[in-house]
Amino acid sequence: MDIYKKSQIWFVTGAQLLYGGETVRQVDDHSRKIVEGLNAGEMPLAMVYKGTVNSTEEVTALFREAEASEACVGVATWMHTFSPAKMWIHGLKAFHKPLLHLHTQYNREIPWANMDMDYMNLNQSAHGDREFGYIVSRLRKNRKILVGFWQDDATRKQLAAWARVCAAWADQQRLKILRFGDNMNNVAVTDGDRVEAESVLGYHVDYVPVGDLAEVQQSVTQAEIDELLTQYETEYAFAPNAARDGKEWPQVVEAAREELAIRKMLDAKKAKAFTTNFDALHGLNQLPGLAAQRLMAKGYGFGAEGDWKTAALVRLFKVMGQGLPGGSSFLEDYVLHFVGDGAILQAHMLEVCPTIADAKPRLEVHPLGIGGKADPARLVFTAHSGKGVAATIVDLGNRFRMIVNRVEVRKPDADLPKLPVARAFWKPEPDLATGAGAWILCGGTHHTAFSFDLTVEQLAEYAEIADIELVVIDEKTEMVRLKETLRTNEVYYWMKK
Ligand code: MN
Repeated sequence: MDIYKKSQIWFVTGAQLLYGGETVRQVDDHSRKIVEGLNAGEMPLAMVYKGTVNSTEEVTALFREAEASEACVGVATWMHTFSPAKMWIHGLKAFHKPLLHLHTQYNREIPWANMDMDYMNLNQSAHGDREFGYIVSRLRKNRKILVGFWQDDATRKQLAAWARVCAAWADQQRLKILRFGDNMNNVAVTDGDRVEAESVLGYHVDYVPVGDLAEVQQSVTQAEIDELLTQYETEYAFAPNAARDGKEWPQVVEAAREELAIRKMLDAKKAKAFTTNFDALHGLNQLPGLAAQRLMAKGYGFGAEGDWKTAALVRLFKVMGQGLPGGSSFLEDYVLHFVGDGAILQAHMLEVCPTIADAKPRLEVHPLGIGGKADPARLVFTAHSGKGVAATIVDLGNRFRMIVNRVEVRKPDADLPKLPVARAFWKPEPDLATGAGAWILCGGTHHTAFSFDLTVEQLAEYAEIADIELVVIDEKTEMVRLKETLRTNEVYYWMKK
């Protein structure tokens, strides 16, 4: 993924010529230093200073350019002096990308002994940013407001986290998802309105008959398969029967062929996410579980059983968390554990991403007991421990609702010697009873996108940018209040449409 290399956040400073050219020159100089400082933090992409804007014409031209720019994934604004906000109206109305309003100041402290009226006329963000805030609120534009001193770590971290959301949002606007086969028969929650999804969330879902994949398999060469098998052998431990001299080795070879074929189709169509369906495997030897695991690890989105919304969300998580150490995956709630605060075993038939593994994954081949195909290869491992977020997006008919649950992944209470799939074991916040109860009340899926690296705040920013409903289930969630919130939201969204 080279998304971060190609993406920029533009920084623009509001000013006006009332105070004279010398003031604007100083504003420009201070802004440059602030942008340099912000870039020195954890910013995953470049923040580019675009100068001061001093009139309606300059503001409008800047935002039109930002809207049209392929590189620009978001704009950050700061009002060093007072910037009369009527001059921002046309520009803001022409702009639909993520917006951040930085409320900072060039100097950290009040210079008690030396402050004079010149200082007051230059350093006006305390009130200038309020004038700007008014017009953004008046225009009903969602934005992130970040208050903090620009040299502080906390400020820089929040800005970097927001930049990741912007890059991931931009990626979703170009995202194509290949859907091999259709939705699993009769399943409701994984389906939805793909036209509305493209209009609101940005991505496109393309149906691909699984027979096309079977055909592409024929074009995979032995040399390609051999090279991939060598990679498997360096990356994973092998169960004896799945190793090169084992009885099930031919199944590993077929798994490699499927991975190469899926990769070829994704790349040919410039798609960055896909879904499969164990019920639609005509012409395939086995459910391509190992392929799903490995392609997720390479940054592709994935959803099982035709679940295109989760495939998009997994891709979102992959882009947002690029380069971070914890990992992310597609997961499904499998088995409940009513002990203590309660916990849920997360797994899937096969498709869990090895970036969340606690140790080198083991490649194994076992029967699947579903789908009627040959025994599939898969990576078996347990997720490492730590806090994370699990999320889903559901289609409520008149809107999309994003549900985010903070979870704590723990070491399982005991080994699972007879379960041949990857797994994670977590406690949903605040406890199983409230966490699972709230999730079900919200209509949340059994499938989730999960990440160790992302925060609730980042997902909330994504929901704001997409302008969709967000429900957060965390340590403060109480069922009685959640019901009130959902009822209020119901009215709000009916009024809004
Ligand atoms: Mn499933």
